[in-house]
This record gives sequence, structure tokens and C-alpha cells, in this order.
Amino acid sequence: ASSIEISGVSQVYVNRKGTFAALQHIDLRIEPGEFVSIIGPSGCGKTTLLSLISGLLTPTSGSVSIMGELIKRPTPRVGYMLQHDYLFPWRTIKENVCLGLELLGRKDEASQAYVTELLAEMGLAEFADAFPHQLSGGMRQRVALVRTLATEPDILLLDEPFSALDYQTKLQLEDLIVTTLKARGKTAVLVTHDISEAIAMSDRIIVLQPNPGRVLADVTVPEPIRQA
Ligand code: ADP
Ligand code: ADP
Repeated sequence: ASSIEISGVSQVYVNRKGTFAALQHIDLRIEPGEFVSIIGPSGCGKTTLLSLISGLLTPTSGSVSIMGELIKRPTPRVGYMLQHDYLFPWRTIKENVCLGLELLGRKDEASQAYVTELLAEMGLAEFADAFPHQLSGGMRQRVALVRTLATEPDILLLDEPFSALDYQTKLQLEDLIVTTLKARGKTAVLVTHDISEAIAMSDRIIVLQPNPGRVLADVTVPEPIRQA
């Protein structure tokens, strides 16, 4: 498991209208294995913060590190799960899930066995050779989760992964994600608009406020409330 250190981070976007501070003076330390939710209104910098942790974006000032190692570019140590599943319709479930491994040139048997194990754990074993259109939305998000985990990232970033799902499916997937990530000691950062989702899933909730994006509150979720 890995920690995430965000020190004195500001992110200023420059466009034709001038400059805009999306995040200002953010200091956060996320512990190894911690599940953290980031909540706040649209435009408070949630996605910007995830982009910084993933290395897709370099902060205007300050630094972002994983286990003390400065993040300068995207790394396989960080997996990203998004609102949409982005599965390739012409590839089977197994082929979609193995894409990350292929890109990393990992063809070893251990990786293949791990994928098979993950598919079984997500209830997808019998769909390995099916195509995405044959699966429901919830199943496709489980496929996306397997694909993200296949390359064994230490850290998972989840950007509103439930927004396209119905309520029951969403609750099931919330449980499955927490159980799967906790069992493997992954550090997770979830972005959501939904406070009940944040309470149900996280150890800790960070509330951002917009203009400029700053930390308004940083609270630990008491165990009894999470399990209520
Ligand atoms: P959130 O995910 O909380 O909605 P974002 O991180 O997407 O917030 O955006 C934070 C603010 O930065 C918003 O006001 C948004 O319009 C602005 N912003 C995001 N990306 C860019 C960009 N590439 N150029 C200029 N402004 C941006
Ligand atoms: P209430 O009558 O308390 O408003 P709800 O219909 O909102 O109940 O929720 C029913 C049950 O589902 C409650 O036990 C609640 O804790 C749980 N719940 C609600 N939202 C979520 C969520 N996003 N994730 C997990 N559990 C939830």
C-alpha cells in the first residue's frame, strides 16, 4: 500500500480569459490503504486533484508524491476508474481487461491468473468471452474495475464511477469496490457528489470549496456510521 503526499499544491489554469486558480495551497496526506472521498460542488477542483495524483497534470506550484517519490508523469502505480466504462465493443471482456497488461508488455502467467481470479471475484467468470454489449451497465463497470486492477496499481482513483447506474446496482458496486480494495490494501480516492456514497464507502471525507479550490473540511468517518 502507498501513501499520497500533496504539499502546498496550487493549480492555475491559463486560458483566453486569463488565469484561474482551480486549487490553492492544498496540503493533504493520504495514508497507505486509506479510502478517501473528495466531495464538493461542481468546479471545486475534484477532477483537477485526481489528475494531479495520477500524474496527468503537473501542479503549477507545490508537489505530489507517492511514498515520497515525486509524481512527474502517469505511472502504472496509479489506476483510474471513470464514469463510463470505455470498453472496446469489438473486444471480448477478457481482451478488454488484459489491455493494460498488453500495453505494459506483461504476458506472464501470473498476470493472466490474476485476471482470471479477479473476473471470478466480480462474478464475471462465465462472461470472459462475451462482448461488452451483452452485459448490463453494472457488469460493465465491474469489468472496468477488473481492467483497472489487472495491472496491480497501489492506488485507485475513482471519478464518479456510479453516476450511470441505477440505485440498487450502485449500492452493490459500492460494497464490491470497498471489499475488493480493502482486501488488497489499496489506497483509494473517490470523487463524488453524493454524501451518502462518501459516508458508506470511506474512512475519511475531504470537502472542497470552489473559487479557488480549498479544503473546507477533512473528517474521519466513524466506523459505526460507515457500517450502519
Ligand atoms: P470539479 O471536478 O470539482 O467539477 P474541476 O477540477 O473539473 O472541478 O475544475 C475546477 C475549475 O477549473 C473549474 O472552474 C473548471 O472550469 C476549471 N478548469 C478545469 N480544467 C480547466 C482547463 N483545462 N482550463 C481552464 N479551466 C479549467
Ligand atoms: P432513509 O429512509 O434513511 O432516507 P434511504 O432510502 O436513503 O433511507 O436508504 C436506505 C438504506 O440504504 C439506509 O440503510 C441507508 O443507510 C442506505 N444507503 C443510502 N444511501 C446509500 C449509499 N449511497 N450507499 C450505501 N448505502 C446507502
